Amino acid sequence: MAVPGRVAELRLRIAAVAVLVVSLASCEPPAPPAQSAQPDSQRIAAPAFNADSAYAYVERQVAFGPRVPNTAPHAACADWLAAELARHGAEVTVQEGRARAFDGTVLNMKNIVGTFHPESRDRILLFAHWDTRPFADKDSTRTREPIDGANDGGSGVGVLLEVARQLGVESADVGVDIVFFDAEDYGRPEWMPSTENGYRDWCLGSQHWAQNPHRPGYRARFGILLDMVGAADAVFHQEGTSLRFAPHVVRKVWKRANELGFGDRFNASPTPPTIDDNFFVSDLAGIPSANIVDYRIQVRPMGYGPFHHTHADNMSVIDRETLRQVGTTVLSVVRQP
Ligand code: ZN
Repeated sequence: MAVPGRVAELRLRIAAVAVLVVSLASCEPPAPPAQSAQPDSQRIAAPAFNADSAYAYVERQVAFGPRVPNTAPHAACADWLAAELARHGAEVTVQEGRARAFDGTVLNMKNIVGTFHPESRDRILLFAHWDTRPFADKDSTRTREPIDGANDGGSGVGVLLEVARQLGVESADVGVDIVFFDAEDYGRPEWMPSTENGYRDWCLGSQHWAQNPHRPGYRARFGILLDMVGAADAVFHQEGTSLRFAPHVVRKVWKRANELGFGDRFNASPTPPTIDDNFFVSDLAGIPSANIVDYRIQVRPMGYGPFHHTHADNMSVIDRETLRQVGTTVLSVVRQP
């Protein structure tokens, strides 16, 4: 397949530019606050979404410690995520699975699914990964220690827990499934040579679910992935794999963000294709899915923010306004798909 090959190759290139990303980003001043591209008079009404609640949900995950498969904090956080979805009225399915990591470690995975309106045939899938990186392989110190994953892992889950809370207060017309995928971030570390099929080291939870959905024959109209949606200076460009599999979903989400006044944060320029859970959900499960991801196209040839896979990915990265704009956009799409 063309894209995975290209993407695997791009993954290799990430390693080469990681140092450049960190050094460039660390000497640049923070971006100015985003200005709205949409005049106030043309804006549509925003659904209720509480950014303080989303922030607290990120904080709570980080407080468990790194959520690395086969560890006690991971197990405790899984129980809490399932209980929290149930508390907001979702029917909860915890899908357990096993996968072999790049180093042979057998990972005990839990994909956690919260289902609203289980009877509805018209469904929307929202997802994020809840595990965190077991290494700080792009950091300069303590590279073998796990990271907090406040942004990479915590932010997407935090926003979706607040979406779940809002759906508990006021239900949507369509069925909604919120899936927290496990073992997304257990891919081969930077210090090891990459392999041609190295992209398959990543997204183990979503690969498992896409081939064994929590309900046989599961279908959804479309999916939206949230990944690294918490940084103050995040800009969400249109991600290449999403544009390949789900251009109509990308258009829908970015148009809505613009109508809500978030047009500068949701930028129409594309990124190269990347490997993330949306690739496997789109390709293996056949559910066209868009990724809202903080990918910095201004960093050549490609790259993520300076926090990425370092110990800097802690609560100091997380910004309520970014969480609010992402959560409000996603919830608006759910309420008016
Ligand atoms: Zn990651």
